[in-house]
Amino acid sequence: LKDQWEIDPEELILGQEIGSGQFGLVLEGKWKDRKVAVKMVREECMSDEDFKEEAKVMMRLSHSKLVQLYGVCTQRSPTCLVFEYMESGCLSEYLREKKGNLSLDLMMGMCLDVSEGMAYLESSNFIHRDLAARNCLVSKNNEVKVSDFGMTRFVLDDQYTSSQGSKFPVKWSAPEVIKYSKFSSKSDVWSFGVLMWEIYNEGRLPYENRSNTEVVESLNAGLRLLKPRLAPDSVYLLMEWCWKEKPEDRPSFALLLHELAALSDL
Ligand code: ADP
Repeated sequence: LKDQWEIDPEELILGQEIGSGQFGLVLEGKWKDRKVAVKMVREECMSDEDFKEEAKVMMRLSHSKLVQLYGVCTQRSPTCLVFEYMESGCLSEYLREKKGNLSLDLMMGMCLDVSEGMAYLESSNFIHRDLAARNCLVSKNNEVKVSDFGMTRFVLDDQYTSSQGSKFPVKWSAPEVIKYSKFSSKSDVWSFGVLMWEIYNEGRLPYENRSNTEVVESLNAGLRLLKPRLAPDSVYLLMEWCWKEKPEDRPSFALLLHELAALSDL
């Protein structure tokens, strides 16, 4: 019997390049009459053996607000990861392109989508570790889905994985992650607050003109990102709740989903 996560190279048709990421090129493709996105993994970028084990776990994660991993093609070199195709690309780009034309309803809908996907991950005891607008993707009907969950664990680049490294996402990271690498669903909640801030700032980068060191200093001094001009007070209150110093003082995703749903009914 063949491994369920193994994709037959004969059934995978590769198309043109659509992007490039931490692990290498991303191509569009076709698999069993479905449009897919294929990540070609450069060997020197990923701890392959660890990932193959984890892929089994990741494939069991299935939710309408998560970008689905369909399978892995290890019989081909380089190894290919085959994902659900998302027509409108990554959320940060999407926000910047639509700047000035995003309705409050649409922005609230995006927050709700992500909180739903994250509430599912939380209930599955799965930590994302790198939640940000650049790691969410948009479907053709403006639906936002969470992508790249757990993948940073397989990156072989100290600059990216060490909190001291130049590529570490300090501006999205909770204090306990920066200080002790203590990841949890509550550190994901901190990142979600920053993601909400990105949405309501139409794709602006947080702490635009500040270095990572300066950001850490101002967080230690108790300062936080300012209220986006487009964010209602009620939404900014949720962001501030996500940025409580102590993880246990932050809401869970289940609670955030509940609070956002209540706001979106107003
Ligand atoms: P990595 O996380 O490995 O660094 P990304 O996930 O950022 O790489 O992928 C790079 C780019 O490829 C994205 O910005 C996006 O434009 C495109 N891409 C990635 N996954 C998909 C997908 N599932 N559907 C459509 N486009 C995708």
